[in-house]
Amino acid sequence: MGVLAGRTALVTGSSRGIGRGIAERLAREGARVAVHYGKNRAAAKETVAAIEEAGGSAFAIGVELGRPGDVDALWEEFDRHADGLDILVNNAGIGKSRSLEEIAEEEYDKLFAVNVKAPFFIVKQGARRLRDGGRIVNISSGLARSAAMPDNMAYSMTKGALDVLSRDLSKVLGPRGITVNSVAPGLIDTDNTYEVLHGSPGAWEWGAGLSALGRVGEAADVADVVAFLASDAGRWVTGSWVDATGGSLT
Ligand code: NDP
Repeated sequence: MGVLAGRTALVTGSSRGIGRGIAERLAREGARVAVHYGKNRAAAKETVAAIEEAGGSAFAIGVELGRPGDVDALWEEFDRHADGLDILVNNAGIGKSRSLEEIAEEEYDKLFAVNVKAPFFIVKQGARRLRDGGRIVNISSGLARSAAMPDNMAYSMTKGALDVLSRDLSKVLGPRGITVNSVAPGLIDTDNTYEVLHGSPGAWEWGAGLSALGRVGEAADVADVVAFLASDAGRWVTGSWVDATGGSLT
């Protein structure tokens, strides 16, 4: 029996990419997983099917974040499938490289709506559903603590805000035995980084060179870290910023 047997998890943005890796990993440990998606229902169904084929349990919930009423709709949908929650992973996020000159107000507002406002209110409304001893993991980015990369400034700012949420929320929920942490991936091969890693000759090698381990990160590399924090073994880690960059910041 897996170490998360009997637990229920919600992973936002788990139809694809890092979130899918996390959903599959938590399910492999026995958790029943809510596979949340924004627009890509087919991808969410594929993730649920993959989990079930591997012997796990999952259901899909679709709500686009960053719009009015999004969080109400998310929890409403969740409540239709599950009674309470043990593990919440705020993974859904957006962001492309944009210089100060390039980024317009609308794009900035969207970034903060999806990457910061949505997790904040998901947590605010989710806290009463989260059982004592539960877990919250916010997916940050190495960019929040790397050397300055101004072309990612607005995106990195959102992750910095998320990190403050993890730190402060750990004090609020700690008395209930709930841990709250940020996990910060480095460059991971997903749809979101397709152009960066596959868009030009030598890009993949450049990406691999960022890590001290000399390769590009995979969703599973991040998922294993999240699974540890979600398990009983992670009970004494809270309010932390966990570097899952493969040594990209050293
Ligand atoms: P992908 O673009 O590959 O996947 C994003 C996931 O989030 C999809 O499941 C997507 O759902 C969902 N999503 C996106 N926007 C919304 C929205 N507005 N409402 C609801 N769901 C949404 O992203 P990654 O896997 O690369 O990134 C996942 C997280 O990891 C993000 O927070 C990102 O900032 C962070 N990160 C990624 C790194 C990387 O190198 N890839 C590095 C560091 C951090 P759908 O398909 O339905 O639209």
